[in-house]
Amino acid sequence: MAKRDYYEVLGVERGASEAELKKAYRRLAMKHHPDRNPDDKAAEEKFKEANEAYEVLSDASKRSAYDQYGHAGVDPQMGGGGGFGGGGANFSDIFGDVFSDFFGGGRGGSRGGAQRGSDLRYTLELDLEEAVRGTTVTIRVPTLVNCKPCDGSGAKKGTSPVTCTTCGGIGQVRMQQGFFSVQQTCPRCHGTGKMITDPCGSCHGQGRVEESKTLSVKVPAGVDTGDRIRLSGEGEAGSMGGPAGDLYVVVNVREHAIFQRDGKHLYCEVPISFADAALGGELEVPTLDGRVKLKIPEGTQTGKLFRLRGKGVAPVRGGGAGDLLCKVAVETPVNLGKRQRELLEEFRKSLEGDSSHSPKASGWFDGVKRFFGDI
Ligand SMILES: [Zn+2]
Ligand SMILES: [Zn+2]
Repeated sequence: MAKRDYYEVLGVERGASEAELKKAYRRLAMKHHPDRNPDDKAAEEKFKEANEAYEVLSDASKRSAYDQYGHAGVDPQMGGGGGFGGGGANFSDIFGDVFSDFFGGGRGGSRGGAQRGSDLRYTLELDLEEAVRGTTVTIRVPTLVNCKPCDGSGAKKGTSPVTCTTCGGIGQVRMQQGFFSVQQTCPRCHGTGKMITDPCGSCHGQGRVEESKTLSVKVPAGVDTGDRIRLSGEGEAGSMGGPAGDLYVVVNVREHAIFQRDGKHLYCEVPISFADAALGGELEVPTLDGRVKLKIPEGTQTGKLFRLRGKGVAPVRGGGAGDLLCKVAVETPVNLGKRQRELLEEFRKSLEGDSSHSPKASGWFDGVKRFFGDI
């Protein structure tokens, strides 16, 4: 089939300005838009034809090629530069440009009334153990779903929405403001182009009702606070037959009594007795898989980190498990009995005049001396 002249398609003069082209295109696009003409092949063809014409004529270089060589100048098969669908500007770009201001910049899919439902967010609180090992949880989310009695149309069973009389089904009205004529969303049908004369009793014409639904969410092992699990199509129902939004389950890991987590590593503080720290010993430390024994060498200082390889978290995005870092904290003994005091007094005396047993203190006093330059 021979292609029609692009200017003819848009119904404009050859010298038409950009604004005139855009205006003509909008009018045609609105008229033949598939959302308004479901299952109408002829309208779809006209819509495509208008798109193609506008795509070429709205691009200065393509337009001049077209003016000079006709279709041969812009047809991809003829070696011209990127015609419609030929790798040049893509369809949605053009569409977005023309329609974004037209429909008040609504979300994608807002054309002709059909609106995608909102994405919903659900915060899922997990214990560290659950986050590390993975789990399956059942959640209840309040959401808008399609009204069943009216199948989402909002019109009473047996009736259907009629064309809006205020805007004639366009969804937009022209308002005169001084010199300017402004397009506005039709106040009566809110841009849907349809009105409901006999509203459905269940949803009061909204087409959607609030319901809480139960969902089973599989949480993979290794998730961390802030990770999102997307449940496609489980968000709010769309309106006027639009697709449903998505549900984002956002993980929040609760604080743990023993472990702090930093990415794939776990940290914990382990108190050790002053005698164990001095003499060395064996310590039981907790891990997520149970207790393990940790050897403490003699002369261990408070704050010393012991690394237990692979006892951290295996990250959800793959890679090996992190480590568990145990920080020892030497505990000062309290509530000493008489005998214990005697032993410690004796111990203190034994240290007098000998700094070799106190590496930190002697280093510290040296620093103080250097600082004051005397003593
Ligand atoms: Zn209207
Ligand atoms: Zn209903």
